[in-house]
Amino acid sequence: MLILVTNDDGVRSFGLRSLASALSELGQVVVVAPDRNRSAVGHALTLEHPLRAEEIKPQVFAVDGTPTDCVNLGIHGLLPHRPDLVVSGINCGSNMGDDVSYSGTVCAALEATLMGLPAFAVSLDTDQFSTENLALATSFSKKLAQMIIQKGLPDETFLNVNIPSGPCSGIQLTRQGKRHYGESVVCNQDPRGRNYYWIGGSEVGFEDIPGSDCNALQQGAISVTPLRTNMTNEKTYADMERWSFDSIVGVI
Ligand code: MN
Repeated sequence: MLILVTNDDGVRSFGLRSLASALSELGQVVVVAPDRNRSAVGHALTLEHPLRAEEIKPQVFAVDGTPTDCVNLGIHGLLPHRPDLVVSGINCGSNMGDDVSYSGTVCAALEATLMGLPAFAVSLDTDQFSTENLALATSFSKKLAQMIIQKGLPDETFLNVNIPSGPCSGIQLTRQGKRHYGESVVCNQDPRGRNYYWIGGSEVGFEDIPGSDCNALQQGAISVTPLRTNMTNEKTYADMERWSFDSIVGVI
């Protein structure tokens, strides 16, 4: 059993260490993670410059790239063979609703799934890790890893897991919800008198959608959302078959 562990908070994150330690009870764990915090880089892949991977401890690699780079380097270069499972996290902060496309944590699991490997992302709904709030996230991650190893996951499918930081009211199978963010961009001046801009991005709420990841966390439950890599909207596809593209072909 070989498990690749990565994250987007960086190789020094307590969440990653706790996760890797727990999963090492299930098999061999290799950590390949960014050398610094790369949160919100999404599914970015580095193509314009070479990457370095420093083995800072046995089986722990710090990479000067993105979480998606780490999954690529791990599977194609650093691991002795293809892993049986890829786990990304434990992220400091939840990744629900619209977050999944921004999140380096979630997109590392997405990348592993595109490579045909079972994977899940796990995030903890907190600003700061503590021994207490990490305990639940870590033990649940280990149990879920065991389940995935036993049951497998369908092709093109991975799991996005969010863990409450307080008392846990249960485990809910959920759908991706809808978060609302403030649209503030702060404009200020640097010491040389030039404008700089800083995207605010603070959450102002979420849509009340029963069965969603956001609602589950509000109810104090662990949220498990199956996500797919193929984003084709089948309903719209069927509707758009009635569009007459032929008329455009006549113009171009
Ligand atoms: Mn992060």
